[in-house]
Amino acid sequence: MAHVVTLIELTRQGGIAASARGLLAAATSLGTPVAVVAAGTGVDGAVAAQLGLLGAAVLYQAVGPQADSVLTAPAVEALEAAVAAYAPVAVLTANSVDGREAAARLAVRVGGALLADAVSVRLDGERIIAGHSIFGGAYDVESAVEGGLPIITVRQGAIDGVESTGGGAVEIITAALAGTGPGARIDSVNDAATGATRPELRVAKTVVSGGRGLGSKENFALVEQLADALGAAVGASRAAVDAGYIDQHAQVGQTGVSVSPQLYIALGISGAIQHRAGMQTAKTIVAINKDADSPIFDVADFGIVGDVFTVVPQLLHALEARPV
Ligand code: FAD
Repeated sequence: MAHVVTLIELTRQGGIAASARGLLAAATSLGTPVAVVAAGTGVDGAVAAQLGLLGAAVLYQAVGPQADSVLTAPAVEALEAAVAAYAPVAVLTANSVDGREAAARLAVRVGGALLADAVSVRLDGERIIAGHSIFGGAYDVESAVEGGLPIITVRQGAIDGVESTGGGAVEIITAALAGTGPGARIDSVNDAATGATRPELRVAKTVVSGGRGLGSKENFALVEQLADALGAAVGASRAAVDAGYIDQHAQVGQTGVSVSPQLYIALGISGAIQHRAGMQTAKTIVAINKDADSPIFDVADFGIVGDVFTVVPQLLHALEARPV
């Protein structure tokens, strides 16, 4: 089977970024996945084994100190080397800041074509087709490359990961980074504080978002309470962010983050097109809004017309009463 090169991002602690699951599942549906990492001293055995379980047939690790001290360039170099070694039919990266940049740079280097923000990938004969949700989720379209290597950035959370129950053996290839490419040097890193133990918004399976309907920063705690009861990440509309109810990192939408969770709960959010652009590909959408004509109900699978301050406490009560 043809190879599919996949850029795996690592966390600062050396673990696999959550985007790896969906990427490797997408790569598996197209061919034989080659997981590419750029890592200072290489990844440890547990990480390699986990990549195998997620579907990687080959782990191609490009090692060198610059992987920890230079932005993006080492990942691009690693991808370029893997493309030369495996002649893949496609390259997949996460549609993250780093993934997008690596994909674009790689496209320039190898004369490939970039298909951005795919929510699905499939084979049509030998052709690779990427699906996209565009114009605020109003249209589902497909794209394909007419010439050159398809380099596809995949929206995080859009494609479900599949963990193998079998051995998941992975062949490990180690190459040295030459470090000749240009790249911004990392002088220091400050970890952004995240909400306690909540999952990361972009890759969370459940997201609870609040909008202007919450009315104040104090009331926004209701959104956080429901999120915690469900083990969910907290999101927000831009109006809620602009009003100072929550930090901008939580903004979902056109100028915020795009999410594709299994469950998206919108509380007091009207469903403006700019908000829908970031959440419409969620598998199940639940909306609670006191205005029955709110556009959020046009995209909701389940809608409750009601006051969030009446409905959400009842929901929390019901969740608490669940047998554990
Ligand atoms: P509103 O539209 O004011 O809606 C509040 C809702 O709460 C109403 O539907 C109301 O019925 C309901 N409500 C009020 N009280 C209650 C209650 N007690 N119980 C239940 N329901 C209640 N927006 C984003 O979200 N993300 C973006 O990335 C984004 N990018 C943008 C980019 C551009 C270029 C522009 C022009 C706009 C962008 N916006 C974005 C803003 C967007 O157009 C909307 O203004 C915004 O999404 C509205 O937020 P909201 O739904 O919280 O507020």
